[in-house]
Amino acid sequence: MNEDQVWQEIESRQVPSQYLCTKEQRRDRLSICDQCEDYTSLRLCKHCMCFMPLKTWITINKCPIDKWGALNEYCGESAHID
Ligand code: SF4
Repeated sequence: MNEDQVWQEIESRQVPSQYLCTKEQRRDRLSICDQCEDYTSLRLCKHCMCFMPLKTWITINKCPIDKWGALNEYCGESAHID
């Protein structure tokens, strides 16, 4: 599954838009990770051990050492993908 297919799958599941980054926002985040010394060849962050190609899709996520931030605040509702 390539990046466009992942995006289409996410959109088809109607995740509330406030929880999803745009493709550009996600690429900006990943480009910071790509240059980070704590980003592994398995695309994991050494601090949170998250798989960054997935973590960077979600607006409320942030880098654990503040190299990039959340794009909106948690509003008290949970986003889930069925
Ligand atoms: S989330 Fe932050 S610390 Fe982790 S790899 Fe990305 S830029 Fe580096």
